[in-house]
Amino acid sequence: MDKYIMALDQGTTSSRCIFFDADGRIISLAQREHRQVFPQAGWIEHDPMEIWHNQLAVAKEAMVKADACAADVLAIGITNQRETTIVWDKRTGRPVHNAIVWQCRRTSDLCDTLKAEGFDDIIKAKTGLTTDAYFSGTKLAWILENVPGAREEAARGNILFGTVDTWLVWQLTGGEVFATDYSNASRTMLFNIHTLCWDDEILERLGIPAAMLPEVLPSSHIFGNTHSDYFDGQIPIGGVAGDQQAALFGQGCFEPGMAKNTYGTGCFTLMNTGDRVVQSQNGLLTTIAWGLDDKVEYALEGSVFVAGSAVQWLRDNLGLIQTAAETETYATGVADTAGVYVVPAFVGLGAPHWNQHARGIITGLTHAARKEHIIRAALESIAYQSHDVISAMACDTGVALEQVRVDGGASANNFLMQFQADILGVPVQRPVVTESTALGAAFLAGLAVGEYKNKAEITEKIGAGRIFVPSMDEKRRQQLLAGWHEAIRQTLPNRM
Ligand code: ADP
Repeated sequence: MDKYIMALDQGTTSSRCIFFDADGRIISLAQREHRQVFPQAGWIEHDPMEIWHNQLAVAKEAMVKADACAADVLAIGITNQRETTIVWDKRTGRPVHNAIVWQCRRTSDLCDTLKAEGFDDIIKAKTGLTTDAYFSGTKLAWILENVPGAREEAARGNILFGTVDTWLVWQLTGGEVFATDYSNASRTMLFNIHTLCWDDEILERLGIPAAMLPEVLPSSHIFGNTHSDYFDGQIPIGGVAGDQQAALFGQGCFEPGMAKNTYGTGCFTLMNTGDRVVQSQNGLLTTIAWGLDDKVEYALEGSVFVAGSAVQWLRDNLGLIQTAAETETYATGVADTAGVYVVPAFVGLGAPHWNQHARGIITGLTHAARKEHIIRAALESIAYQSHDVISAMACDTGVALEQVRVDGGASANNFLMQFQADILGVPVQRPVVTESTALGAAFLAGLAVGEYKNKAEITEKIGAGRIFVPSMDEKRRQQLLAGWHEAIRQTLPNRM
């Protein structure tokens, strides 16, 4: 009889469930989108009940599609959109407010106040994060401040805080288990990544009672069993990790210096730094990769804000293409970009340039420039931006990169992957299964229930897929990079 691992992938736009067999092959998949609530400009919320109901529904649907029952499921692995903040009443199981989504900017002013006080240095040193509205801490403080009665109920111990993983574990276990894992805790801006405890000084500054925070457990760990109401038998929850960390695990980046890049709307790059807490000199975040085998491992994280969305812009705003996949044909139809660079700094520039006032440009235009060159330059910009983040990581860690593992929607583009390898000067490896996030959660869960003995056994399950070997000569690479950095300079306001 086949045994499966159920991966629950709760993302920003949808909730998915993937059934994997023990070799990491996809058996079935179900997915449901949820509403994005925009109460005012820059604010984004989700309905936590809708998320929970969708997640349960897709779990059941994927189980039917796999022709499986609870007894066939070895374990559940949960991975989730990170930082999104939910507060609920533990007596009723009802949220006291909508979930405040990671993208929501409503606490920017509070973050500015913390910075003005110099408290951001304390936050950086203890949590590895920059003080930003992106993380959960100030979102939770906002709910306590703005929901009538929330502060009193929190003081009485009646309301609980969790990231989406905690919410799902609590619901799935019928309110029995109130816990998160190290990777998610490290994104709250409330967790000390050195002492591995919720940080009293930060909690006090933000007015958050420790009693409302979940227990922090290893990422591969039996959190509890699902309540008998939900499936036709109980299933252990064996793995929990934030989406980017789960993808790092699902890509088998187990050794220090190994890195993955996920090419979606934006790009998320994580590099394993092992037991070293590397404080970046280039504006990268320090985060916990996972808790496993009685210890935690750390990672450096950097993101590119506009990656696949530059391709959407070519399609939806410029009308140059009909589908994202067509970009590959156009890009390979010309030998180069004829000196054209596109810098999609639509929302400013992130690591390592960090300039929120930068705006996008197309530069190097001549009579020779055609649509193909612009399309190619837009794809190349994804690789250049990733190059800049990955080089900053290598610089911060002092570890030369040997390879980058890739996943996400735009990693399907062979031209982009080859150009990425060329511009980095290291091989780019795309696995057979590019659902690395869900796979990572499944592997963590499988480890907890003893389906896999160790990481080495998991490495064997990850098919190498295709390897893109760099073939550009070094002089050309340096020329192109110099042109890119000149284009970056032109996006910055008040340049000299
Ligand atoms: P997300 O998880 O952020 O929604 P996905 O991993 O689903 O993103 O990837 C979707 C993104 O990838 C879109 O921005 C799309 O434009 C881009 N994309 C998808 N396929 C390709 C392709 N073949 N070439 C280039 N970009 C692509």
